[in-house]
Order: sequence, then C-alpha cells, then structure tokens
Amino acid sequence: MLKNGFICFYVSISYLKSAICAHRGERVKKFIAVILIVCAISFSVTLSACTKDGGKITSYDITCTYEEETGTLSGIMNVDYYNDTDTEISDLKFNLYGNAFREGALYSPVSDTYKNRAYYAGESYGGMEIENVKNCAGWNIGGEDENILTVNLLTPIYPEDNVVLTVHYTLTLAKVNHRTGITQNAVNLGNFYPILCGRNTEGFVECNYYYCGDPFYSECANYTVTLDIPESFTAASSGKLTQESCVNGRKKCSYTLNNARDFALVLSDKFEVISETVDGVEVSYYYVSDSTPQNSLTAATESLKYFSDTFGKYIYPTLSVVQTGFCYGGMEYPALTMIAEGLDADNNIYTVVHENAHQWWYAMVGSDQMNDGWQDEGLAEYSTLMFFESHPTYGFTRKGMINSATSYYRAFFTVFSQLNDVADTRMHRHLSEYSSELEYNNVTYNKGMILFEMLRNTLGDEKFTLGLRKYFDDSCGKIASSDELIGCFIKSGTDVEGLFASFLEGKILI
Ligand SMILES: [Zn+2]
Repeated sequence: MLKNGFICFYVSISYLKSAICAHRGERVKKFIAVILIVCAISFSVTLSACTKDGGKITSYDITCTYEEETGTLSGIMNVDYYNDTDTEISDLKFNLYGNAFREGALYSPVSDTYKNRAYYAGESYGGMEIENVKNCAGWNIGGEDENILTVNLLTPIYPEDNVVLTVHYTLTLAKVNHRTGITQNAVNLGNFYPILCGRNTEGFVECNYYYCGDPFYSECANYTVTLDIPESFTAASSGKLTQESCVNGRKKCSYTLNNARDFALVLSDKFEVISETVDGVEVSYYYVSDSTPQNSLTAATESLKYFSDTFGKYIYPTLSVVQTGFCYGGMEYPALTMIAEGLDADNNIYTVVHENAHQWWYAMVGSDQMNDGWQDEGLAEYSTLMFFESHPTYGFTRKGMINSATSYYRAFFTVFSQLNDVADTRMHRHLSEYSSELEYNNVTYNKGMILFEMLRNTLGDEKFTLGLRKYFDDSCGKIASSDELIGCFIKSGTDVEGLFASFLEGKILI
C-alpha cells in the first residue's frame, strides 16, 4: 500500500499533525514545530518459473454479478484446493475481508484519523454473506471478528490431492473510499470473494482487518473470473480479458490470471483508458481526472521495464493502473494497482511507481505482511528510489529521498520517545502492535528505505542488486520469510546479519 504523505501518504503536514494529536494531544504540541520544520526542509512527496515448486496449484473459478441499484455483488465461486503440504487437511479456512466493513466490526478498516476521508457520505456499512457451501460436511462463520469461513470437508485431503467446493456469497458494498467499496466515481472490488487463508507451519493464517498495513496473507493460485455488470461500466481487472459480450444492457467479461495471490477489479462508468505495450505486457491506465494521463502511463511502463530488467521478468500478461477513490495513496493487487484520486502530479507519479514495485515485492514474491510489513514496503520504497535514480528526468533524487525518509523517521522518533518515554522501533512485529499509521509508516516505509540504503552502501551496488535478483529468483510464487531475504545478501560473502538484526530488533540509532 502507499500511504499518503511521506510516501503513499501525500498528506503531509496537516495529517501528520492530526495523526499525532489524535493520540496524545497536549504533550505533543511542542514537537509539532519540529515536525513542521523537518517537513518543510525535506520533502518532495510523498513462468512458469514462478509456479510454486513448478507443479499444481489451487484454482478459483468465480462468476459474479454487480447490481448498481443495491450496491451488491453476488457470486458463485468454485475453488479447487490443491494440498501442497505434507499433512492431511480436514478443514479449509477462508478470509472474509468484506466483513470488516459491516456495522459493529471489531476491527475497523479505517482509523479515526482517516474516517472523514474514507466515508465521504457519512457512516456506511457493508459485509459478506455466505449463503451456501456445497460438497462439504458443514461450514461456519467464526474467527475473531466473523471474518473466517471454516469448511469441514467430507473426507480429509491428503498431500498432492485436491477437493472442489462451491461457495455462494453476496458482498454488500459500503460507500467508502477503500479497497472494497463504492467510491464517488468507481466501485473498488479488492477482496471481493472469500479467499483461502495462506498457510504457515502452524496451519491456516487468520487475518484480522487491521487498519495499519496490509492484513493479507495468501498463496498463489490460478483464476478464471466472469463478471456481469451494467453495460455502461468499464472494468479494470487483474486478469487478461478473454471474452466480452453485451446483451440487454448488461456486459459480461471473462478474465484469466495465473500464479497470482489475489485478484481485484475496479468498475466505473467514468473511466477513460489509455494503453501501451512494453516487453509484451499490455499496460493500461484507467483514470477519471488526470490532466497528464500520458505521464502516468509512461511512469507505469518505464518502471515496469526497469523492474523487469533489474529484478526479474514480470510474469503477468497485463497490468492495470487504476485511478480511483481511495483514502490512502494507493494499493497493490497482482496485475492491478489502485492510485488515489486527487493526488498532485508528483505524488501521482510516485504512487504509480511504488505500487508497480509491489508487483515484484508482494505479488510475485510474497512475504509475511502480518509480521514483517517492512519486507515488501521497504523494498517497494527502495525499488522506487532505484527507478527514480536511474530516471533523473522525474526530478526525484536518491539523496533527496533518503534525506526525506531520514528526516521523517527522526521526527517520529523524537515525538514518540517523548510521548512514550521510549519509541518502539522494532520492524519485526505484528500489525496489531502498531499504535497508529504514523508509527507503522515510519517503521516500515521510512526505516525500511534507510535499511536498504545502508545495506547497499555496505555491499556495493553490484552485490546489492544481485542479492535482490536472487531473492526474486528463489522466491517468486512463494511467501518468503525475512530470513530468506536476508540469506540472499549473506550469500554475497559480506556479513550483513548484524545490520539486519539491529534494524529489525529496533536497536540501531538513525
Ligand atoms: Zn506500499
């Protein structure tokens, strides 16, 4: 995700102030002046080779219909679950992220700081209702926040075996500028279907919808999606369009996408679209209001080419860059990125590049976003820096970006040290352990960028880039641990374990 302000957050000073004040009020006032000065000084913005083990993977076949009058999406999902573990499995678990938007949700998807920006029409609620699950012994909705669908299987599935389930569901959309919701100009369909929980050594990972960070943990699968929408709508999609037809005022679009850990759509009857093909990838920019749309598309194509050349080849046939209502700067999905409306020109370009970088660090190479948010955000930020460094005409410099990240981080550190006696700067921690977006953004984005800058300075450019390439080659299609990332740099022959430890454990002073 890209938060507004110092990174994805283009918000900056007023939000920085309100975000902090929301937490501690009076004691913080004397530090606001420091922050304002720091901000003013520093800122410019804000395959198959990839198939897991080269073998079978789970597949989703989703058919869904969007009704504009009711703001609902009804879907039938056939999921063919392939057991690639070495243990038998008796129950399957799915995350129901749509339920985070229901009234009374324990974990609000939006913090108080961002409520006005997100809920543009006042309070609004949605939710995901499961109507039926077929070919199972039983099912229930549970989890900590009614966010988990557990399906009891008729018989256990053994390693390398599979089971096919059919889930009927209805997603009701809130009026909210968020991943899942009806915005002023579009309909955001991130997390629009029940998605299998990813697995770690302890089993399925249940994710609560923390407003800090991206609370998603899912494994790659193959997708076929058929969408039925009013004919006046244009759909931006993660998938490649394979079929389109119009009948009686309705449009039916079919898509495919392979080796992807999620699938997203954005609908609008106001979209304009421009496209360009780069390295065989069709890149499309969907926008509602952009006075220089070609600049946005060029940033998308140039950064896609740069990241492909530098880290490893982009594996999807298309990339949709979509301007839409969103309360933060942007959001990444495989082969689709959401870019918030209303960003100024620099922030818009920055966000396009940052979200593109997530195609490498999140979409193709997954990581544990619940416990190591820095791993994909820090890398996305540093990859953005590398792109701008190699494309100086955009006006962002390596020095300027590092100075900006350092200044923001130090301001955060000063304020939080005063407020809490000591600032918690651990990077390896669960999303639930962050007290605010301000803390999360500084620890994952800014400190993440500083970490990779120090690593690069320690290793030298060549070993640093080789380490990133190795990380991509080793982990594409998988969920990589932080140790696997660190191991790719240790193999270069330079001892950087201590450097990583000092950052992740919060011991280094910056
Ligand atoms: Zn991000």
